[in-house]
Amino acid sequence: MLPVIALVGRPNVGKSTLFNQLTRSRDALVADLPGLTRDRKYGEGVSGDHRFIVIDTGGISGDEAGIDAAMAGQSLAAIEEADRVLLLVDGRAGLAAGDEQLVRELRRRGKPFDLVVNKVDGLDPEVAASDFYRLGIEDCYRIAASHGRGVRALIESVLVSF
Ligand code: GDP
Ligand code: MG
Repeated sequence: MLPVIALVGRPNVGKSTLFNQLTRSRDALVADLPGLTRDRKYGEGVSGDHRFIVIDTGGISGDEAGIDAAMAGQSLAAIEEADRVLLLVDGRAGLAAGDEQLVRELRRRGKPFDLVVNKVDGLDPEVAASDFYRLGIEDCYRIAASHGRGVRALIESVLVSF
């Protein structure tokens, strides 16, 4: 089985942009992947000799609707299916309540995840990341998915553990 990496985060943080960067829009042959359903968007990525599956999730609103609604449906299922979760946040928008809800949920489930601060293009990456220190996560990746910046380093680092 290939490692399965799920991209989760509030709407508009750049999940689909990162998905497209990682997969170059190749769709995964989900029929070959026991246990995965077709409800979510799966892609196959390659990094060096390593192949992996990446799951794009639709929207998690995480705003007024509360944690149950925020985590409902496909995003929750994607988290369950994943070996590793990449929690994307928006370095321009800064920390949002939905980000904190997601971190709580991932911790509660004991699911391994990494924090990925996206949209650091045109920003000082350190400053962009500093808003997220309050999440209590020791380290984070800083990327600009739409420019492909930091994406290769991110995936190489994540795949090391598989
Ligand atoms: P999703 O809702 O999380 O899937 O987010 P999308 O991938 O659809 O991206 C939302 C918006 O953010 C789009 O307008 C993207 O072009 C933009 N975006 C994504 N990544 C970056 C980035 O690295 N830098 C900037 N400046 N914009 C980005
Ligand atoms: Mg999307």
